[in-house]
Amino acid sequence: MSDISQLTINGDRLWRSLMDLAEIGATAKGGNCRLALSPLDGQGRDLVVGWMKDAGLDITVDQIGNIFGRRPGRQPSLAPVATGSHIDTQPTGGKFDGCFGVMAGLEVMRTLNEKGLETEAPLELVIWTNEEGTRFVPVMMGSGAFCKVFPLETALSAVDVDGKAVRDELVNIGYAGKAPVPSHQIGKYFEAHIEQGPILEAEDKVIGVVTGSLGLRWYDVTVTGMEAHAGPTPMPLRRDALYAATHLMQEVVRIALDHAPQGRGTVGVANVFPASRNVIPGRVSFTVDLRHENAERLADMDARLRRACKALSDGELCGYAVDVDLQDVQHFPPTPFAPELIDAVRTQAEARGYAHMPIVTGAGHDAVYMATVSPTAMIFVPCKDGISHNEVEDARPEHLEAGANVLLGAMLAHAGLASD
Ligand SMILES: [Zn+2]
Repeated sequence: MSDISQLTINGDRLWRSLMDLAEIGATAKGGNCRLALSPLDGQGRDLVVGWMKDAGLDITVDQIGNIFGRRPGRQPSLAPVATGSHIDTQPTGGKFDGCFGVMAGLEVMRTLNEKGLETEAPLELVIWTNEEGTRFVPVMMGSGAFCKVFPLETALSAVDVDGKAVRDELVNIGYAGKAPVPSHQIGKYFEAHIEQGPILEAEDKVIGVVTGSLGLRWYDVTVTGMEAHAGPTPMPLRRDALYAATHLMQEVVRIALDHAPQGRGTVGVANVFPASRNVIPGRVSFTVDLRHENAERLADMDARLRRACKALSDGELCGYAVDVDLQDVQHFPPTPFAPELIDAVRTQAEARGYAHMPIVTGAGHDAVYMATVSPTAMIFVPCKDGISHNEVEDARPEHLEAGANVLLGAMLAHAGLASD
């Protein structure tokens, strides 16, 4: 079997595994709740690790609880071609976010076993700890520690709302591993994932060839005016912080629209002080989230937001001056994926006759951190109505099967199928 695009995974087995995993922490509305390092996350891990062992994978657990299952290659000295994702979920999460990537990787291993195929480079399946960041911050904790985005100690000392620490919860569920972080070099990394957006469905495509991730800038903005009685204070004498702030909020959306189609601008949180119906707001604080796939364009968006803040504080936007404080909270530059891995994904989608298109990821993924240390690419499949982080999250079995087939082909293209 020399043409790897003729090799296919077992779609029924993939679907059954996803549904079996989804029984752990199943919610009434058909979703999943397996918060990172909770007893249910532990049960989910036990189930999947059992499957990984059944598939003959050699298991390593590192100190942050990342799980690596290795399938040997003919050339043990080569760095592994890895794939993976996460199996922790949001409190009202779905059955596919993360779990699809892990089960697709498992299905690759099962398929190769069944067909008695060997690869030149070793293959690896990874389950990253706490991707969701719901219970413990930082988000994408396992991959972030592995890629040295933050120190291991930062991750281990993170606590949840009840004051329980990651380090103790890892022990409680039996995943406080011995291996150092990072334990080893990953040669190349592929991650299959549901899109979590509406584009593939709208474009009637089966495979998203992910070319990279949007860069992101987060800010906290505080606009300060003067609170006063809503009745006796005439309009010309006001310094209404909320009215002033709305000019900036509108500008956030305009900035994104002017950088279409990849620009994104969101005000997700806004707080008004003192929040009384008969008091003119004296202070408004709100968040800003700007994203773009191109670093220069993201820098343009940043500069324009700063100019708007200056104009507002100078009284040019709303007719009076207010104090505007802009704090940088987070900056992730755009992360392009590796051309040779993107090519493998596209080639496999093409050879297998799946309708495909290039796409960027607007959401964070373990793959985005992995791209900082190893050549990386992602494979997206559509999800119903583009909805995720929701119990109604849904995906079609044939799309998941297609995504796993592309993963199989792309991994083999890079690991090399051993011939006798
Ligand atoms: Zn995910």
